[in-house]
Amino acid sequence: MEKVQIGIKNFEEYRQFLDKDVEIELDYYIQLMKGKKIAMVNSTAYGGGVSEILHSLVPLARDMGIDIDWWVIKGAEEFYYVTKAFHNCLQGQEGELSDWAKKILVYYNEMNAEAMADWDYDIVVIHDPQPAPLINYRHPHDKAKWVWRCHIDTSTPNQEYWDFLYQFISKYDSCIFTMRDFANEGDVLNKLIIIPPSIDPLSNKNTEIGIEEAKSIITKFGVDIHRPLISQISRFDPWKDPLGVIDVYKIVKKEYPSVQLSLVGSMATDDPEGWEYLYRTLRRAGEDYDIDIVTNFNGVSNREVNAFQTASQVILQKSIREGFGLTVAEGMWKRRPVVGGNTGGIKLQIDDEINGYLVNTVEECAERVLSLLRNPGLGEQMGEDGREKVRKNFLLTSHILKYLKLFEELLS
Ligand code: UDP
Repeated sequence: MEKVQIGIKNFEEYRQFLDKDVEIELDYYIQLMKGKKIAMVNSTAYGGGVSEILHSLVPLARDMGIDIDWWVIKGAEEFYYVTKAFHNCLQGQEGELSDWAKKILVYYNEMNAEAMADWDYDIVVIHDPQPAPLINYRHPHDKAKWVWRCHIDTSTPNQEYWDFLYQFISKYDSCIFTMRDFANEGDVLNKLIIIPPSIDPLSNKNTEIGIEEAKSIITKFGVDIHRPLISQISRFDPWKDPLGVIDVYKIVKKEYPSVQLSLVGSMATDDPEGWEYLYRTLRRAGEDYDIDIVTNFNGVSNREVNAFQTASQVILQKSIREGFGLTVAEGMWKRRPVVGGNTGGIKLQIDDEINGYLVNTVEECAERVLSLLRNPGLGEQMGEDGREKVRKNFLLTSHILKYLKLFEELLS
């Protein structure tokens, strides 16, 4: 396990987004948590929503005066292969859990637990299934309260996988889920807390850039800035349905020939399936030069993601299963209309027909995209509503406040 080097944030700059009552409450809980030590633990420092959040949350909390560290567990390829199977099967995919996979999960956690020997935290937050077994190796005199923060939808899991994981989960003092519907087991429900994730309004990914700057950035990736663009930013993963997005584009293209599609995807270090699914996506796109598929290996980083989102007429997040879908809040924050799969945390964010659209099929999605392309005024109105929804509910500052309230309750 390694401690992640984090950047610097300035809390004062974030006050502009806070309603007065939230600001007062936040200042109050910051004072209560002074002197307490907190650890966040997850499985990757790069790629996917959890690392995205921690890269902002940890430095901002530090600037608030909270003593907080971020640790990442280490593993080899076989570990990530197994944890990806856990991720998929906990979200409902079929498949048997082998004794080998159980051993690998436990073995790597045991190795990582060596770093815990001199820990003196008051609160330990373990993100997702990969490091969940660490709780078995807590020091006998460990005074810390342990929290399991689940980012995925475990409402209808593959029972064999859930039962195995549950022997660890049941030992935690508290469990955080994104939505009430995601939790499935009686015992977890007794110590269940609901906290949705958040975006950082001042990160390179979300800070406001002008439309001209955004266009000049995306033109380098082959996008024709004089024609409309629809985009989806997400890992190449079956649950994100990039193949479905291409099918949507093909329907839209027939009726709106000038449209272009950008699929932007980062290759996460803990996601071995990503490459395989990227190749499938490239095959589905074929030789259509109006489909632009780029990754971090082409030089796409946070600012470029920001530019793609800012310069898109319509943003898609056509997931089939989704924990939260930070990309939805990111798009809404940029005042863009988002068409999202009617699933998981996307339903928390998009109010159908008010600040975006929720869709169940490729055809429905294509129809919504077409109506937004044909009616830019509609998209603008939805975009304004979307930004306010994100400001009130899904910004980093209120996320930290919810954590601090839980920590204070656990420690008192
Ligand atoms: N992301 C990125 N570059 C990419 C693709 C995705 O930075 O090429 C980011 C995206 O902007 C978001 C995060 O990765 O902040 C993905 O989080 P989300 O909750 O949408 O999905 P997850 O990958 O965690 O399932």
